[in-house]
Amino acid sequence: MAAPALYRRVLLKVSGEALLGSQPFGIDEAVIDRIAREIGEAVALGVEVGLVVGGGNIFRGMSIAKAGGNRVAGDHMGMLATVMNAIGLHEGLERRGISSRIFSAVPMPTICETFSQQRAERALKRGRVAIFAGGTGNPFFTTDSGAALRAAEMGCDALFKGTNVDGVYSADPKKDPNAVRFDRVSYKEVLSLGLQVMDAAAVALARDNHIPLIVFSIKEPGAFVDVLRGHGRATIIAD
Ligand code: UDP
Repeated sequence: MAAPALYRRVLLKVSGEALLGSQPFGIDEAVIDRIAREIGEAVALGVEVGLVVGGGNIFRGMSIAKAGGNRVAGDHMGMLATVMNAIGLHEGLERRGISSRIFSAVPMPTICETFSQQRAERALKRGRVAIFAGGTGNPFFTTDSGAALRAAEMGCDALFKGTNVDGVYSADPKKDPNAVRFDRVSYKEVLSLGLQVMDAAAVALARDNHIPLIVFSIKEPGAFVDVLRGHGRATIIAD
Protein backbone atom coordinates (compact mmCIF):
# COMPACT_ATOMS: atom_id res chain seq x y z
CA MET A 1 0.00 0.00 0.00
CA ALA A 2 1.25 3.52 -0.77
CA ALA A 3 2.73 5.41 2.19
CA PRO A 4 0.36 7.91 3.80
CA ALA A 5 1.18 11.61 3.85
CA LEU A 6 3.21 12.95 6.77
CA TYR A 7 1.27 16.21 6.82
CA ARG A 8 -2.37 17.05 7.53
CA ARG A 9 -2.42 20.53 6.00
CA VAL A 10 0.22 22.18 3.83
CA LEU A 11 0.76 25.40 1.97
CA LEU A 12 2.27 24.95 -1.48
CA LYS A 13 4.06 27.95 -2.98
CA VAL A 14 4.44 27.84 -6.75
CA SER A 15 6.47 30.62 -8.34
CA GLY A 16 5.16 32.34 -11.42
CA GLU A 17 8.32 31.24 -13.21
CA ALA A 18 7.34 27.59 -12.76
CA LEU A 19 4.21 28.23 -14.85
CA LEU A 20 6.28 29.42 -17.80
CA GLY A 21 7.23 25.90 -18.80
CA SER A 22 9.24 26.26 -21.97
CA GLN A 23 7.70 29.63 -22.87
CA PRO A 24 9.39 33.02 -22.39
CA PHE A 25 6.21 34.62 -20.98
CA GLY A 26 2.83 33.72 -19.55
CA ILE A 27 1.27 30.40 -18.65
CA ASP A 28 2.01 26.96 -20.10
CA GLU A 29 -1.25 25.00 -19.84
CA ALA A 30 0.64 21.69 -19.77
CA VAL A 31 2.43 22.83 -16.61
CA ILE A 32 -0.86 23.96 -15.06
CA ASP A 33 -2.35 20.55 -15.82
CA ARG A 34 0.59 18.65 -14.29
CA ILE A 35 0.58 20.76 -11.12
CA ALA A 36 -3.21 20.36 -10.88
CA ARG A 37 -2.85 16.58 -11.19
CA GLU A 38 -0.22 16.46 -8.46
CA ILE A 39 -2.31 18.63 -6.15
CA GLY A 40 -5.21 16.27 -6.83
CA GLU A 41 -3.02 13.33 -5.77
CA ALA A 42 -2.18 15.15 -2.53
CA VAL A 43 -5.89 15.83 -1.87
CA ALA A 44 -6.64 12.14 -2.56
CA LEU A 45 -4.11 11.26 0.16
CA GLY A 46 -6.22 13.31 2.58
CA VAL A 47 -3.92 16.33 2.68
CA GLU A 48 -5.56 19.76 2.92
CA VAL A 49 -3.80 22.00 0.40
CA GLY A 50 -3.50 25.77 0.39
CA LEU A 51 -1.82 27.23 -2.67
CA VAL A 52 0.01 30.51 -3.14
CA VAL A 53 1.11 31.42 -6.63
CA GLY A 54 3.63 34.10 -7.63
CA GLY A 55 3.44 36.42 -10.60
CA GLY A 56 6.99 36.60 -11.93
CA ASN A 57 6.01 34.97 -15.25
CA ILE A 58 3.89 38.03 -15.97
CA PHE A 59 5.06 41.00 -13.92
CA ARG A 60 7.30 42.00 -11.01
CA GLY A 61 7.10 45.42 -9.35
CA MET A 62 10.86 45.70 -9.19
CA SER A 63 11.08 45.87 -12.98
CA ILE A 64 9.25 49.22 -12.93
CA ALA A 65 11.23 50.42 -9.91
CA LYS A 66 14.54 49.54 -11.60
CA ALA A 67 13.56 51.64 -14.61
CA GLY A 68 12.94 54.61 -12.29
CA GLY A 69 9.16 54.10 -12.06
CA ASN A 70 6.77 53.95 -9.13
CA ARG A 71 7.43 50.79 -7.08
CA VAL A 72 4.00 50.85 -5.46
CA ALA A 73 2.22 50.95 -8.82
CA GLY A 74 4.55 48.20 -10.05
CA ASP A 75 3.75 46.04 -7.05
CA HIS A 76 0.04 46.56 -7.64
CA MET A 77 0.58 45.23 -11.17
CA GLY A 78 2.57 42.30 -9.74
CA MET A 79 -0.25 41.43 -7.35
CA LEU A 80 -2.72 41.48 -10.23
CA ALA A 81 -0.41 39.10 -12.09
CA THR A 82 -0.71 36.62 -9.20
CA VAL A 83 -4.50 36.78 -9.54
CA MET A 84 -4.20 35.89 -13.24
CA ASN A 85 -2.08 32.86 -12.34
CA ALA A 86 -4.53 31.90 -9.60
CA ILE A 87 -7.37 31.92 -12.13
CA GLY A 88 -5.27 29.72 -14.45
CA LEU A 89 -4.58 27.22 -11.66
CA HIS A 90 -8.21 27.29 -10.52
CA GLU A 91 -9.31 26.41 -14.06
CA GLY A 92 -6.70 23.64 -14.25
CA LEU A 93 -7.90 22.14 -10.96
CA GLU A 94 -11.60 22.38 -11.88
CA ARG A 95 -10.93 20.74 -15.27
CA ARG A 96 -9.62 17.76 -13.32
CA GLY A 97 -12.62 17.78 -11.00
CA ILE A 98 -10.60 19.08 -8.05
CA SER A 99 -12.73 21.56 -6.17
CA SER A 100 -10.97 24.82 -5.36
CA ARG A 101 -11.65 28.42 -4.42
CA ILE A 102 -9.67 31.59 -4.98
CA PHE A 103 -9.24 33.93 -2.02
CA SER A 104 -7.63 37.19 -3.03
CA ALA A 105 -5.87 39.56 -0.63
CA VAL A 106 -6.98 42.33 -2.99
CA PRO A 107 -10.80 42.54 -3.17
CA MET A 108 -12.17 41.93 -6.65
CA PRO A 109 -15.59 40.44 -5.94
CA THR A 110 -16.70 39.98 -9.53
CA ILE A 111 -13.73 37.67 -10.15
CA CYS A 112 -13.06 35.81 -6.91
CA GLU A 113 -13.61 35.83 -3.18
CA THR A 114 -11.83 38.22 -0.87
CA PHE A 115 -9.53 36.47 1.60
CA SER A 116 -11.12 35.63 4.92
CA GLN A 117 -9.35 33.25 7.28
CA GLN A 118 -12.67 31.80 8.42
CA ARG A 119 -13.97 31.11 4.92
CA ALA A 120 -10.63 29.68 3.82
CA GLU A 121 -10.68 27.43 6.91
CA ARG A 122 -14.11 26.11 5.96
CA ALA A 123 -12.97 25.45 2.38
CA LEU A 124 -9.85 23.56 3.49
CA LYS A 125 -11.84 21.50 6.02
CA ARG A 126 -14.19 20.47 3.19
CA GLY A 127 -11.25 19.20 1.20
CA ARG A 128 -11.21 22.09 -1.25
CA VAL A 129 -7.96 23.59 -2.44
CA ALA A 130 -7.70 27.18 -1.21
CA ILE A 131 -5.82 29.32 -3.73
CA PHE A 132 -4.48 32.46 -2.08
CA ALA A 133 -4.02 35.20 -4.66
CA GLY A 134 -2.66 38.73 -4.40
CA GLY A 135 0.23 37.87 -2.06
CA THR A 136 -0.09 39.79 1.20
CA GLY A 137 -2.12 42.52 -0.52
CA ASN A 138 0.63 45.06 0.20
CA PRO A 139 3.45 46.47 -1.90
CA PHE A 140 7.07 45.84 -0.87
CA PHE A 141 6.27 42.20 -0.12
CA THR A 142 6.64 39.04 -2.15
CA THR A 143 4.47 36.00 -2.60
CA ASP A 144 7.01 34.06 -0.49
CA SER A 145 6.03 36.31 2.40
CA GLY A 146 2.37 35.87 1.40
CA ALA A 147 2.88 32.11 1.55
CA ALA A 148 4.48 32.25 5.01
CA LEU A 149 1.68 34.52 6.21
CA ARG A 150 -1.11 32.28 4.91
CA ALA A 151 0.68 29.17 6.21
CA ALA A 152 0.72 30.74 9.69
CA GLU A 153 -2.89 31.98 9.49
CA MET A 154 -4.20 28.64 8.25
CA GLY A 155 -2.22 26.56 10.76
CA CYS A 156 -0.32 24.64 8.09
CA ASP A 157 2.07 21.90 9.19
CA ALA A 158 4.61 22.89 6.55
CA LEU A 159 5.25 25.34 3.75
CA PHE A 160 6.32 23.58 0.54
CA LYS A 161 8.32 25.82 -1.74
CA GLY A 162 8.44 24.47 -5.28
CA THR A 163 11.57 25.73 -7.06
CA ASN A 164 13.66 24.88 -10.12
CA VAL A 165 16.12 22.83 -8.07
CA ASP A 166 15.77 19.91 -5.67
CA GLY A 167 16.62 21.75 -2.46
CA VAL A 168 18.81 24.34 -0.83
CA TYR A 169 22.45 24.60 -1.94
CA SER A 170 25.39 26.48 -0.44
CA ALA A 171 25.65 28.40 -3.73
CA ASP A 172 23.80 28.46 -7.04
CA PRO A 173 24.39 24.93 -8.41
CA LYS A 174 23.97 26.21 -11.97
CA LYS A 175 26.91 28.59 -11.51
CA ASP A 176 29.14 26.90 -8.90
CA PRO A 177 30.13 23.23 -9.46
CA ASN A 178 31.26 23.02 -5.81
CA ALA A 179 27.84 23.96 -4.44
CA VAL A 180 26.78 21.57 -1.66
CA ARG A 181 23.16 20.47 -1.23
CA PHE A 182 21.65 20.36 2.28
CA ASP A 183 19.17 17.71 3.42
CA ARG A 184 18.37 19.82 6.43
CA VAL A 185 19.37 23.34 7.41
CA SER A 186 18.24 25.72 10.17
CA TYR A 187 16.34 28.97 9.67
CA LYS A 188 19.28 30.67 11.38
CA GLU A 189 21.79 29.28 8.86
CA VAL A 190 19.58 30.23 5.93
CA LEU A 191 19.41 33.80 7.22
CA SER A 192 23.02 34.19 8.41
CA LEU A 193 24.57 32.55 5.33
CA GLY A 194 22.20 34.45 3.05
CA LEU A 195 21.14 31.24 1.28
CA GLN A 196 18.93 32.11 -1.67
CA VAL A 197 15.75 30.20 -0.89
CA MET A 198 13.04 32.64 0.10
CA ASP A 199 13.22 36.25 1.13
CA ALA A 200 14.33 36.91 4.69
CA ALA A 201 10.91 38.19 5.82
CA ALA A 202 9.30 34.89 4.76
CA VAL A 203 11.97 32.77 6.48
CA ALA A 204 11.68 34.83 9.70
CA LEU A 205 7.88 34.54 9.71
CA ALA A 206 8.09 30.76 9.24
CA ARG A 207 10.74 30.52 12.00
CA ASP A 208 8.70 32.60 14.47
CA ASN A 209 5.66 30.39 13.85
CA HIS A 210 7.60 27.09 13.83
CA ILE A 211 6.54 26.20 10.30
CA PRO A 212 9.06 23.95 8.53
CA LEU A 213 9.99 25.08 5.04
CA ILE A 214 10.35 22.26 2.55
CA VAL A 215 12.18 23.14 -0.63
CA PHE A 216 11.77 20.76 -3.57
CA SER A 217 11.77 20.79 -7.37
CA ILE A 218 8.34 21.55 -8.77
CA LYS A 219 9.78 20.66 -12.18
CA GLU A 220 10.33 17.06 -11.14
CA PRO A 221 7.12 15.12 -11.89
CA GLY A 222 5.72 13.46 -8.77
CA ALA A 223 8.13 15.19 -6.38
CA PHE A 224 5.41 17.02 -4.41
CA VAL A 225 3.55 13.84 -3.46
CA ASP A 226 6.81 11.92 -2.85
CA VAL A 227 7.96 14.58 -0.41
CA LEU A 228 4.53 14.64 1.26
CA ARG A 229 5.05 10.92 1.91
CA GLY A 230 8.52 11.54 3.29
CA HIS A 231 10.61 9.86 0.60
CA GLY A 232 11.13 12.57 -1.98
CA ARG A 233 14.21 14.71 -2.53
CA ALA A 234 13.98 17.99 -0.65
CA THR A 235 15.67 20.23 1.89
CA ILE A 236 13.91 20.77 5.21
CA ILE A 237 14.47 24.13 6.87
CA ALA A 238 13.55 24.02 10.56
CA ASP A 239 15.04 24.90 13.97
N1 UDP B 1 3.70 41.48 -4.81
C1 UDP B 1 3.45 42.48 -3.87
N2 UDP B 1 3.05 42.12 -2.61
C2 UDP B 1 2.91 40.84 -2.23
C3 UDP B 1 3.17 39.82 -3.18
C4 UDP B 1 3.57 40.17 -4.46
O1 UDP B 1 3.58 43.67 -4.16
O2 UDP B 1 2.53 40.58 -1.07
C5 UDP B 1 4.05 41.87 -6.19
C6 UDP B 1 5.52 42.21 -6.38
O3 UDP B 1 5.64 43.23 -7.34
C7 UDP B 1 6.09 40.93 -6.93
C8 UDP B 1 4.96 40.44 -7.81
O4 UDP B 1 3.78 40.79 -7.08
O5 UDP B 1 7.26 41.12 -7.67
C9 UDP B 1 4.95 38.97 -8.12
O6 UDP B 1 5.22 38.22 -6.95
P1 UDP B 1 6.59 37.42 -6.77
O7 UDP B 1 7.74 38.24 -7.27
O8 UDP B 1 6.67 36.99 -5.33
O9 UDP B 1 6.33 36.18 -7.71
P2 UDP B 1 7.24 34.90 -8.01
O10 UDP B 1 8.68 35.34 -7.97
O11 UDP B 1 6.97 33.90 -6.94
O12 UDP B 1 6.77 34.43 -9.35
